[in-house]
Amino acid sequence: MQQHNSTIQALKDALGDRVSTGDSILDLHASDEAHFHPQRPDAVAYPESTDEVVQIVRRCAADHCPIVPYGVGTSLEGHIIPVQGGITVDTSRMNAVLEIHNDDMDAVVQPGVTRKQLNEALKATGLMFTVDPGADATLGGMAATRASGTNAVRYGTMRENVMALEVVLADGRVIRTGTRARKSSAGYDLTRLFVGSEGTLGLITELSVRLFGRPEATAAATCRFDTVEGAVNTVILAIQLGIPLARIEFIDALSIRALNQYNDDMSLAESPHLFLEFHGTEAGVAEQINQVKALANEGGADEFQWARKTEDQTALWRARHDAYYATKALRNRYGHLKSTIIIISYI
Ligand SMILES: Cc1cc2nc3c(=O)[nH]c(=O)nc-3n(C[C@H](O)[C@H](O)[C@H](O)COP(=O)(O)OP(=O)(O)OC[C@H]3O[C@@H](n4cnc5c(N)ncnc54)[C@H](O)[C@@H]3O)c2cc1C
Repeated sequence: MQQHNSTIQALKDALGDRVSTGDSILDLHASDEAHFHPQRPDAVAYPESTDEVVQIVRRCAADHCPIVPYGVGTSLEGHIIPVQGGITVDTSRMNAVLEIHNDDMDAVVQPGVTRKQLNEALKATGLMFTVDPGADATLGGMAATRASGTNAVRYGTMRENVMALEVVLADGRVIRTGTRARKSSAGYDLTRLFVGSEGTLGLITELSVRLFGRPEATAAATCRFDTVEGAVNTVILAIQLGIPLARIEFIDALSIRALNQYNDDMSLAESPHLFLEFHGTEAGVAEQINQVKALANEGGADEFQWARKTEDQTALWRARHDAYYATKALRNRYGHLKSTIIIISYI
């Protein structure tokens, strides 16, 4: 039975049909990509501005009505399930790229902008936003989960890439944390407090994020090892030597089986593998490749299998990004097996 009727009516008076109690909308916001039992919110609100978020939060605070911020619901730990009901605040309509500062290499965005939308907006600039957790998540959701992903080894996670935030606190106050200045040590580091707070400390309504220059050259490859130890030692040595790898991920034999079965065009040997990507100038990439090849040979690796065309590189990392679904499919088929994908990153 629906609860919080007076709160919902007040929000409908303020936001009109951007507050929904429709069955399909409630179902859509009842679970994320995790396995937990779904639970519907009582209503879903779609604010379009910080002011509207403030209105929602103030009304909910006054009525003791729970709030769950929502990006696109791709998180994997049941974060967005409204276990106490209440209002889910869906940020998908707050999806404007507000500012791009080419020279300073940063951008200011609303929280509902997804990483692909931002990179699309950056296409003409030669810049890129690098945090890539696989799913096309919102930057608000990624900041709230401190998302990492395949690029983290070179470019960092959301922890390193969020410079400043605007946040609506639980009582409706709006605060700003951090600045766009790269070198600043004044005051409490509240930005780091909110990054990773999973929607529990406030609702992020604006983010300033770091950008990087698109590399002149990229190269991606897979590499098979006889042993887990050989693959892992290669990674350790490469990082200790300071080789600026853009991406490096270890995938065990069982996870390779999962990827092969899930992707029609993938047929890697069922052994431990590294997936690698190199960024830099043509000469820099060639040098990195030679260095890593030498380390991999010592670790007992086969020759690298190159993904030379852009579409082949995209397919390689698509397979990696689909690994969650691939291992789930494998588990459904062979419930007793355990597979591992280890993401090598700063954290
Ligand atoms: C196939 C797949 C692969 C993935 N791989 C990785 C990976 O390699 N590394 C990794 O880190 N993650 C990975 N993820 C998870 C990823 O981190 C999340 O999908 C993403 O960070 C959440 O963004 P979202 O927009 O979907 O947020 P949601 O799932 O909607 O929300 C996530 C959390 O953030 C809160 N939230 C959302 N928006 C706001 C806001 N504006 N203000 C405050 N709180 C907010 C929510 O309340 C919730 O607690 C993967 C997910 C999938 C499906």
